[in-house]
Parts: sequence; C-alpha cells; structure tokens
Amino acid sequence: MRVSMPHMGNIYIPFKALFQRLKIDFVMPPISNQRTLSLGARYSPEGLCIPFKMTLGNLIEAAELGANTLLMPGGNGICRLGYYTRIQEQILHELGYNVEIIQLGVSERKFAGLLEIIKRVSNDAPWLKIISAFRFGLAKLNALDAVERLVQKVRPVELVKGTANQIYAEAIRAIDKANEYNILKKVKKDYVSQLNQVPRNSQVKPLIVGITGEFYVLLEPFSSFDIERELGKMGVEVRRTTFISEWTKFSLFLNPLGINEKDKIHKAALPYLKRDIGGDGWESVGEKVLHAKEYDGLIHLAPFTCMPEIIAQNIMPSTREKIPVLSIICDEQIAKPGILTRLEAFVDLLERKRRAENKKRQRVTI
Ligand code: SF4
Repeated sequence: MRVSMPHMGNIYIPFKALFQRLKIDFVMPPISNQRTLSLGARYSPEGLCIPFKMTLGNLIEAAELGANTLLMPGGNGICRLGYYTRIQEQILHELGYNVEIIQLGVSERKFAGLLEIIKRVSNDAPWLKIISAFRFGLAKLNALDAVERLVQKVRPVELVKGTANQIYAEAIRAIDKANEYNILKKVKKDYVSQLNQVPRNSQVKPLIVGITGEFYVLLEPFSSFDIERELGKMGVEVRRTTFISEWTKFSLFLNPLGINEKDKIHKAALPYLKRDIGGDGWESVGEKVLHAKEYDGLIHLAPFTCMPEIIAQNIMPSTREKIPVLSIICDEQIAKPGILTRLEAFVDLLERKRRAENKKRQRVTI
C-alpha cells in the first residue's frame, strides 16, 4: 500500500511524521504549484471550486509517483465537499490510475474515525503505537502553527524585508526533519527565539487586517496567491483565526465533549444569518461582526462558485458593524498581478482611513 494525500499548507509535515513512525509507505506529491492547478482544472467538471481542482491535481501527481491509496478529506456538511471523493476517484480511474480513495470523514466520526483509517493503512499497527505516532504528529502541527503565528507579527515590522520568511522556511524544514520530541522542542524554541530577535522598526504601528473565508483557501497559500506574505511586505499585520492545530484541537477532541469554539462567532452572525449555510459562510459573516472594532480591514477569501462564501459576501455589506472588506475570489482564471494591485489599493484606503481617524481624534482632544 503506497499512501498519499493532497496538500493544504504544512499539513503534510505532521502526517509524514505519523506515517514514518508507523512505517507506512508515504508518497508525497510535489508542493502545490502551477502544474498541480493546471492538472486539476483540466480534469475537473466545469464550475467546481478551487479546493476540488487543487486536491485533484495533488492526487493525480501522487498517482503519477506510484501512490495507490489516497486519503482525501470529506464531510457530511451542507457543501458539496462530501461528494468530492467519489468524483475524484472516478476521474482518476478514467485517467487509468488504479487507486482507491479513502475519505477522511473526520466531521462524522471525529478522532475515532481518523484513528480507524490510520489503523487500516498501517496494516493493523497496535493501537498504542498509532496513538503515540498521532501525538508526535500533533506536536509537529502545534510547533508549525506557533512559528507561523509569530511570523505574521514580525513580517510587517521587520527592518530587512524577507527576514521572517527566510527564518520561517528554515523552521519548516527543521520541524519536518525533527524525529524526536526533544529535538522538536529545541527546534521550536530556537526558531521562536530567532524570530523574536529580528530587528524591528519600533516606530511603525502596522495596519491590522483580518483574513477570513473558506477553510482550504485560508490554509493553502498557493490557492490564495500567498496574500499573507504579500500583505506582510506591504507592512500589514495579518490576523487569521483559522489554524489547523486549533481546528484539530476542537474538531477531534473538544467538539465531541460539547465544547464548540464557534458558538461565539455564530452568535455574532445571528442578526444577519440565522443558520449554517455550509462550508464556512456563517463564520465569515461572524468574523466581520466580531472583529469590526479590532481590525482596520478584512479580507474575505472566497473560492469561485463556492455558494456558502457567495452568500456571506452578499450579507457582509449590510451589517451594522462597519469595516472595509475586500473580497478576493480564488480561481485558476485569476492572475496574481491583478490581486496585488487590488491589495495595494486596499492598503492605501486603510492607511488614509487611519490618518483621517487620527486627525479627527486630535481635533477632539484639542
Ligand atoms: S465550502 Fe465552498 S470552496 Fe469549500 S469545498 Fe465547499 S463549495 Fe468548495
């Protein structure tokens, strides 16, 4: 059994660690790139969203490298993601690949479901070994997200542009390589300290821009034009509440105990949207309402043809909580230079808004 799975940000690192510990033959497809997207778009039915196309591209590239058992996230939510596994499997068969796709239906069976699938692909490894390997993968995931959160804070204020990104790239490689808890702990500490020591411009008070929208495009930088880095270069601090480590903590462990991290955000969205509309649409509206006072602006990432985010996009302008929102549609037809121009214009607008607010405040105090 040669196992593979699609990319979504750095998620391959914890899974790789887990598979290595269980001696599962893991085939890693190339990090998502233009070819991945072109392949996915070429073989996808028309009108499907970028998560479908990108993951299909990843699965084709994995099959080209000899993978025959593919793990693909799915779910029983309202959006069409629940159908993707079967459609992708059919496409791969039609292309001549003899593969089986196993759906990671973590939203239904939670932790138990995930462990059962790992047991199956590990050729019935003992439970203790599976749990221990899973814990190590989780430790890597937490380390990756801790470093990334810090990078988001350093990028806009670093004196030499690109320093945080360089340290981040090294940190990802080192976390990936760490094969023991003590090494992982040391690597995390070391890179957190390096990031804390990056020379910063203490005079600037960066604009704060929240990023919300659909889960996949929030977490897979290639699909969303790497806008967090681009905003960092423009001196903007990005705030994103969606991290895979957070999602794992709640979705696999705390939600089954009745603790729902989304209660607050759903409550915030209630005056404008009374129910789940699938995907992350409800949360997108809630994020705008909840953080309107905290952020200077909000970027809403919405895959083209994603109904939940289209609904959210149309509700956002009518909320009482006012904050500039830039909606970015993610699709293979959109070119990055156009996105950069829109980002620059948005940042310019936020800067002017902040200057105007500061002047108003000064006049009031005089
Ligand atoms: S939420 Fe939207 S983008 Fe995500 S899988 Fe569903 S339809 Fe596609």
